[in-house]
Amino acid sequence: MNSGRNSVLNAKPVAIMGGIRVVARIRPQQNSELEKDCIVSATGPDGDASSQPTVVRIPSFKNENEAFSFQFSSVYDQASTQQAIFDNEITPTIKHLFNGFDVTIFAYGVTGTGKTHTMRGGKSLAERGIIPRLLSSTYRRCRKIEKDSAGATSVGITLSYYEIYNDKVFDLLEAPEKRTMSGLHLRDNGGKTVVVGLTERPCKSLKEFEKIYDEANVNRSTSATKLNAHSSRSHAILCFKVTMTTGDDVRVSTASAIDLAGSEDNRRTDNGKERLVESASINKSLFVLAKCVEAISQNQARIPYRESKMTRILSLGQNNGLTVMILNLAPSRSYHLDTISSLNFANRTKKIEIRELENEPITKGCSRAVPTSTGASMHRQPLR
Ligand code: ADP
Ligand code: MG
Repeated sequence: MNSGRNSVLNAKPVAIMGGIRVVARIRPQQNSELEKDCIVSATGPDGDASSQPTVVRIPSFKNENEAFSFQFSSVYDQASTQQAIFDNEITPTIKHLFNGFDVTIFAYGVTGTGKTHTMRGGKSLAERGIIPRLLSSTYRRCRKIEKDSAGATSVGITLSYYEIYNDKVFDLLEAPEKRTMSGLHLRDNGGKTVVVGLTERPCKSLKEFEKIYDEANVNRSTSATKLNAHSSRSHAILCFKVTMTTGDDVRVSTASAIDLAGSEDNRRTDNGKERLVESASINKSLFVLAKCVEAISQNQARIPYRESKMTRILSLGQNNGLTVMILNLAPSRSYHLDTISSLNFANRTKKIEIRELENEPITKGCSRAVPTSTGASMHRQPLR
């Protein structure tokens, strides 16, 4: 595909049919949760407890003597580590990223089930989540490519980070005081959705990434406080673009890591008036996501992506490349109904077929905007 020639004209995108890889992760019980209330378990196929779990078991809400089983590509039990999930589920996607495909990883689940822990994680090396590990592996690979090519190929990384709150897009790499309350607009570009005017910051090392990411996460909570919200009620989207340059050949692909807002059914919680506005729009975007998944799985001609900004950006099954969904689950009874509803959603999602489009190489100096799968900026970094 990457012919080494100076033109994009010969390059045709390669379409490969694939599915969304859906994996479930059950978080450990917390101190406040009683062992006897643990109702969710991971088993191997046919209930075999010794093999790699692929099945989540949960009792029926109405009749606890009856159990439901949901099968996924992999299931991670309460004892699973950040490292194991990263090694098994994310490491294989990095190769695709450097082969010119986009990658989307998103965490779905009720608030308190471990989405942020899985994506961002804690400070210690062992507790680091998918996002810092992904960047760490990416930088390692960049250095290797540059070394192996004796400098003939250079690799640059740029970052974008934004949140969608109340169906508005806010740039987390911009100082909170610079943000307008109306947020940023979306635009379609070459079949992909882009966020207009989003910051794209070049980032040379893992250390630099960690600094930018930590500051942006403070921004996230600052804006959350200002808007009287909590981060569990916004969708956070981190995108990084990998630009590989060999002579005049330039290849760009994007990885997107998304920590979705909590999927709980707010009709069952005691929300005040303000919370209701938020809940309605969070519920709306997740509700639209469920409608999209339903429509795709039924092969409907019209998929209602445009009914919310999150679904427009995520555009499941459409040009978002290799896609991994992590379904975060709490093991305890207090989450019972929401857990069943999350499992049903994930069960439909795993049936979605996606087209992996290989990004076309572009010619240095070409002024074409490069759209990215999950809404990276219209602003191109100058190509080196
Ligand atoms: P969410 O983002 O889905 O609302 P969090 O990631 O904030 O959930 O997790 C809720 C709590 O559970 C946090 O205190 C978090 O540290 C803890 N937690 C979640 N998953 C794990 C895990 N796999 N191991 C240890 N603690 C976890
Ligand atoms: Mg969270």
